[in-house]
Amino acid sequence: MSQRLHADALRRLLQSEHIETLSAPDLIRTFREDDGIAAFRPDGICQIDPRTGDRVLFNTSRARRPHDNRPPATPPSTFSPACAICRGDTTGILDVAALSEGFTFINKNLYPMLYPQETVIPHYLPENASEHIGAQAKPAYGLHFLQWTSSFHDRDWHNMPLADCVVVMQRLAALERRLLDLGPELLPGASGGAAYVSIIKNQGGLVGGSLAHGHQQIAFGSVMPGRVQDNRRFEQEQGEPFSAYLLRENPAEFAVSDYGPAVLLVPYFMRRPYDMMLLLKASNRRHLFELDEDELAAVARGWRDATAAIRRIMPQLGRELAYNVIVHNGPGAGLYFEFLPYTQETGGFEHLGLYVCQGNPAEAAIHLQQVLAQPRGEITR
Ligand SMILES: [Zn+2]
Repeated sequence: MSQRLHADALRRLLQSEHIETLSAPDLIRTFREDDGIAAFRPDGICQIDPRTGDRVLFNTSRARRPHDNRPPATPPSTFSPACAICRGDTTGILDVAALSEGFTFINKNLYPMLYPQETVIPHYLPENASEHIGAQAKPAYGLHFLQWTSSFHDRDWHNMPLADCVVVMQRLAALERRLLDLGPELLPGASGGAAYVSIIKNQGGLVGGSLAHGHQQIAFGSVMPGRVQDNRRFEQEQGEPFSAYLLRENPAEFAVSDYGPAVLLVPYFMRRPYDMMLLLKASNRRHLFELDEDELAAVARGWRDATAAIRRIMPQLGRELAYNVIVHNGPGAGLYFEFLPYTQETGGFEHLGLYVCQGNPAEAAIHLQQVLAQPRGEITR
């Protein structure tokens, strides 16, 4: 029997079946009333690197969180990864949807980067903030969710039936919509009503994935991430969203797969081998929830293909499986997704903004096409 979160544990943890039915006060209450989350609450401030505009949040308690996603120090026979999620040792569930087997669900991150603090002095800063953190500090207030792709421990985008991947994407879109709809109520102190839903996936201990059970992270708050700022600036300067630019300018031979409404490609500026982007062809799309049925299905296929290809290629390269997926939504992006396998270390030149890529996009695209053309034994059905 595969390891998974069972239905009885789901019932015990269920606080809401559909995220659409939760009001802003209810949503905030579910976070504040969770003592486990409060114990790991972040510091509640944000600093901005004045050179790049990168935002820095602080949560010293996150360093104490458990990891089960590192290579075993002991031989496999004695290594027993007891998954906290499969045990039901996690936070209350706010959304659940049935899959062909098991279910997908959304709950609260026990180790949040953003938290809905009650103190607002002013804008959630501690009274004596300037003594400790300087006048540059901005308030950081928000909510941090996790979406578990499947209740089955070993299932994720790469090995689930496409129809199930579409359900997972629909629930992610529903969460994104609910948070943006409730934005002004959830973030009363935000200037100009600005609210951002940041969606990422970390898979593998080398790139921040602390749990092996497949999941996405969703952060909601008034802090604009640096890359969102970059996308917005791109559109202001170039007069078109980034996705429209790249669809036109990227060499056709770097395309990996065309799904109709979306295309998976290797960007001509590939920074590490096998970096991929999935771009919506309709560049007026800015959020997942704006996608129609065909577009959502195309995005789900792209996530499935890109992650399946990464999982095949990284062992061939002798690399430990590790990759990030980044959702670029909001102003200036169009809508696109980045798949970033950790195929190469980040060195000093890279920190200087000078990348030395150990591969080239033409060969990467051909290899990715070949890998995706192979039969996929690991897809459940
Ligand atoms: Zn698990």
